[in-house]
Amino acid sequence: MAKILVVEDEEHLAEGLRFNLEAEGYDVETVADGSSAVGRLTDPEGGYEAVILDLMLPEMGGFEVARRTRAAGNLVPILILTAKDATPDLVRGLEEGADDYLTKPFHLDELLARIRGLLRRRRWDGAESGDSNPQPAIVGETTVHFDRFELDTPRGTVRLTTREIGLLRALIDREGEAVTRGELLEEVWGLRPDTKTRVVDSFIVRLRRYIEADPANPEHIVSVRGHGYRLVR
Ligand code: CA
Repeated sequence: MAKILVVEDEEHLAEGLRFNLEAEGYDVETVADGSSAVGRLTDPEGGYEAVILDLMLPEMGGFEVARRTRAAGNLVPILILTAKDATPDLVRGLEEGADDYLTKPFHLDELLARIRGLLRRRRWDGAESGDSNPQPAIVGETTVHFDRFELDTPRGTVRLTTREIGLLRALIDREGEAVTRGELLEEVWGLRPDTKTRVVDSFIVRLRRYIEADPANPEHIVSVRGHGYRLVR
């Protein structure tokens, strides 16, 4: 049974989420502020398989929770909840490493579908969307294991988040082609191509750190000036 952490300060919403997620068979814990959430998510014994994270929280906002969770090396899938029309907020949440988002008010079915999607992608059973278990890909000295969300690099194994592996997948699928930021925003994050964000560039910096021998002089994830990025194996 997957264990889910709900971080939400509106008590009736938190309890509603708990009730409905438990009805789906999930094991649910709730916390109502950012500091408690960080405490749970940086606890090596936590064992959460997904997090539903409200952005407007007392003490410490959801961005900071996401940032500290990732900084602690916890790659748990994070779904953020934001107020309607709060695009800058949700974009910042994604920049901090969240995997998916929903705007309030949301439909319960939609939330459950997103959670299932995050858990499935994490395990990558490949049974759905016709995406049969993808074969590992070689990029330079790195082997990309899509099924395990892992890279084997000369410096050791690196685990990736769902969006990191998604970004790498998008570039590898179009190997040799220049892919625009807008295309990547749409394909990997489901954002409008004209969304104002540095999320693509900041994720590229991270991927280069894993894959490139010299991240300052990339040979595999190459910038295409005024356009985007191109993957060279
Ligand atoms: Ca709130």
